[in-house]
Amino acid sequence: MPSPIAHSVSGYVLTRLPIVKNIIPSRLWPITPAAALYSLFVANSPDLDFLGQLLTGLQLHRGPSHSLLAALIVSGLLAWLVHRYRPQSSYGNLFSFTFGLYGSHLLLDLFTAGGRGIPLLWPLSSQYFQSPFALFPGVHYSRGLWDNSHLIFIGAELLYSLILLSGLQIWKARADHQVSR
Ligand SMILES: [Zn+2]
Repeated sequence: MPSPIAHSVSGYVLTRLPIVKNIIPSRLWPITPAAALYSLFVANSPDLDFLGQLLTGLQLHRGPSHSLLAALIVSGLLAWLVHRYRPQSSYGNLFSFTFGLYGSHLLLDLFTAGGRGIPLLWPLSSQYFQSPFALFPGVHYSRGLWDNSHLIFIGAELLYSLILLSGLQIWKARADHQVSR
């Protein structure tokens, strides 16, 4: 899995995409602190299973929370919760937005080296899926917090973040240019 760096930047960029302007309420655009926190939380939430693993010692990480079913359930529940307090926001839009954020996490994990992949189709299938090629080096938390080898994943994820954020800036600049013409 990538670290929270890549997951957080992906969530942030997804929230800033011009297309999202049409599916989340306009008052969430430009992005509010609440929307930013929401996107960071959802984009990282599948890895909360790490806490369960730390507490119980069981091999829980990259388990059922990394499946499409979990993405559907979490998106359904969170969209319902937000819709309850912001009835002006469409449930369908909130669901799609949340599912996109959660799905971005699963996608990034699919393209990460090492590990066993993720059980995308759990509970229908216990097979673990992983892309045949990796975009991200694995993160080895077992080596401790300050191991020199961590510089590899930090460098790769910062590069990924830089590309993604630059792409977003270029896209926004073009969109603004078209609006002003
Ligand atoms: Zn993960």
